[in-house]
Amino acid sequence: MKLHGHTSVLIGSAIAIGVLSPSSLTGQVDSRAAELAAARGGSPGRVIVMCLRTALTLPSCQLAALDSAVFLASNSVSAYFNENSYGRVTLTGDVAGPFTISLGEQCDRVGWADAADAVATAAGLDVAAYTYRVYIEPPETAILCVNEGSSQRALGSPRRSSWVRGDHWDSRLVIAHELGHNVFGSPHASSPTAVYGDGSTVMGLAPVLNPLIPGNWQDTPHFNAPEKIQMGWVPRANVESVTEDGNYRVALLEAGSTEIQVLRIQGSGMGYFFSYRRPVGFDASLLSWYANRTSIHLWNLEDEPYLLATIGDGQSFTDASGLSVTQTRHDATYAYLMISFSAAMPTAPSR
Ligand SMILES: [Zn+2]
Repeated sequence: MKLHGHTSVLIGSAIAIGVLSPSSLTGQVDSRAAELAAARGGSPGRVIVMCLRTALTLPSCQLAALDSAVFLASNSVSAYFNENSYGRVTLTGDVAGPFTISLGEQCDRVGWADAADAVATAAGLDVAAYTYRVYIEPPETAILCVNEGSSQRALGSPRRSSWVRGDHWDSRLVIAHELGHNVFGSPHASSPTAVYGDGSTVMGLAPVLNPLIPGNWQDTPHFNAPEKIQMGWVPRANVESVTEDGNYRVALLEAGSTEIQVLRIQGSGMGYFFSYRRPVGFDASLLSWYANRTSIHLWNLEDEPYLLATIGDGQSFTDASGLSVTQTRHDATYAYLMISFSAAMPTAPSR
């Protein structure tokens, strides 16, 4: 996947929509009402983060460092969700352990969770008091498990579980990504060709999965604009539907605002969503492909969004209908966009 060097992107809307049916993702977006209510309500249930070890090796995790990474530090996962939600959501909880389990011969995360719950309960931890459980795995899991983390909601049960592989025990990116699934029911942030292809959010992992990009497992970029609209963090009043040619501006996505933060151009079913990202706050290490540029997502207001492109100053996004959107300039607060619905028509030179 190439993440740089575009100057213009041609997406025929019929073609783009034809691409967008990754059936493997659909199960993750069922029944999001409760998660979205938690996201809007500001007080999702408490999180227990359990450090696991085996009898054979030292645990990966150190409780104080884990507590700091998840809850306490200024760059913690909790602080990340608080900044993302413009102060609406605060994650609270505890870390506990280490609890000793045996791993067996293969990656068996559900079995390990059951074993850990039993050990923790025997040690006096009221596991059931927590809505969300995060299992920080022993170091041996770096060999046993392919995925750096995973999440699962038990069918017919309120239990929501996440796992973090031992070698990523203190990765704020992995923990934030899994809690994105676990607490907010958020699906992966994709591009039309890659499930994790939107590296502008923790729900995509393009920067760390692509060896050509200097990604860091500690970097936690903000959620993208469609995700924030769906969570209710960007209110609908901050989303402007554009139907006429003209010059528009959008305020940066990283800070709470009463101004327009997202421009929307609606097609049939899917729409384009334009937002402006800046390298500030948790986006300080945002990759240059996203920073100071306009992100363009394709989204149907319900399911997972798709990152189509980003454009910097002087660059345009066009589609087969004749739509053309150009970022004319940007400053610390706004990106300025020139939008034309008939760019395919020849225009006379100005006189
Ligand atoms: Zn995931």
